[in-house]
Amino acid sequence: MDKLKALQKIKQEMLKDNSLPLKKEATNLVFGDGNPNAEIFFLGEGPGYWEDQKGIPFVGNAGSLLNQLLRLINIKREDVFITNVIHYRPPANRDPTPEEIEAFSPYLDRIIAVINPKVFVTLGRFSMGKFLPNARISSVHGKVHKVNWRGRKITVVPMYHPAAALRNNDILRQIKEDFLKLPEILEKARELEKPEQEVKQMQLI
Ligand code: URA
Repeated sequence: MDKLKALQKIKQEMLKDNSLPLKKEATNLVFGDGNPNAEIFFLGEGPGYWEDQKGIPFVGNAGSLLNQLLRLINIKREDVFITNVIHYRPPANRDPTPEEIEAFSPYLDRIIAVINPKVFVTLGRFSMGKFLPNARISSVHGKVHKVNWRGRKITVVPMYHPAAALRNNDILRQIKEDFLKLPEILEKARELEKPEQEVKQMQLI
């Protein structure tokens, strides 16, 4: 099955799943947005007002900043994939609970398996917690973490949440610095995935 069809199937299953928390209060499921063949996977927290209205992640103020940060590094939003750890809006934008995150995680894990990106960028504490449960964002942001996750090694770069950067200029400066590192991190992740022979030949050139 191609990736787009596989994602559509997961979305249909989520739409039918009445056991998912927050469904009754929400307007739309916010499944995810972007390129099924993305090399970079952005993982946010949960839908806010505009995301709930439109069914698309990061389309409010935090989304505008995310778009600006992507432009800063010449990466098109259409080329990455963006989703959240919870896919229905919590009332009054409160933090997601551990139970809510857990309830959505089997679907999120399937989305991740389909996209199979080269780099995960987590935005904020809740998405960082999926891969680095004991980390403190202030010490680990912008650093590359090789994480053993579900039997394979993945590259995770935790970053501050864009909404936090909108409230605090120092965090804005740090998130910009962290984004500027992404192209090189991606290039290194691509190198690692190249077959050994190809990498050896490249070293000879
Ligand atoms: N904040 C998030 O974490 N996700 C969104 O989709 C929008 C704002």
